[in-house]
Amino acid sequence: MRRSLAAGNWKMNGNAELMEELSTLAAAQPDAGPDILICPPATLLSQAVEVTQNSPVRIGGQDCHAAPKGAHTGDISAQMVKDTGASAVIVGHSERRADHHEADSDIRAKVEAAWAADLLAILCIGESEDERMGPDTLDIIAAQLDASMPDGATGETLVIAYEPIWAIGTGRVPTLEQIIETHDMIRDRLVARFGAEGDKIRILYGGSVKPTNAAEIFTAQNVDGALVGGASLKAADFQPIIDALAKA
Ligand code: PEP
Repeated sequence: MRRSLAAGNWKMNGNAELMEELSTLAAAQPDAGPDILICPPATLLSQAVEVTQNSPVRIGGQDCHAAPKGAHTGDISAQMVKDTGASAVIVGHSERRADHHEADSDIRAKVEAAWAADLLAILCIGESEDERMGPDTLDIIAAQLDASMPDGATGETLVIAYEPIWAIGTGRVPTLEQIIETHDMIRDRLVARFGAEGDKIRILYGGSVKPTNAAEIFTAQNVDGALVGGASLKAADFQPIIDALAKA
């Protein structure tokens, strides 16, 4: 019913060697498999689109500005991401929330900007370690979701990525029970807000997904794929994650 999605976030990594990895990854994909999205740095978007043009791999940005244009030195608009040939954009990654002080209201505006440019928005949410240790973890994640998500979301326009901040780049992952509980809560909330359409919105897990743990994470009913950082940089690491998703 929901198409599974393996998304890679290259963060501030990208060079000729990584473009070779992308080319290898693109060449290895069958026509029928999970959706695959790679999000390289903005400087490589056009090149990545070119490298993957005859493959099922799609390309996305890692961020966009909420405004369509203007005096925002160093930023790029959603339409600029779209103009490269990209089809999606990540918004609200915890590294952007931390490094650039992005609040839920800023991220909500970015999702709207992504939609205005006809981009799929991949909206990241997730708790800090202290929040995970406390009694209100699910309430905190729910509040973040509610405040970052504009009205009118559909399965075609929005993907949610649940990424516990303490699991990103650390090699630590929540227990499968914690992942199931959180994804089930997100699903309930999406359905409560968007009705049947909420059941079509994909929910990715992100945070230290590796070839060794992917298959177990993908057993969860409301895990529709993964947002992968470090393990998306090498085709040999990302491919087993894609394969695990194809089998789930
Ligand atoms: C991320 O950057 O979104 C991420 C999940 O990173 P990693 O897979 O390296 O933990």
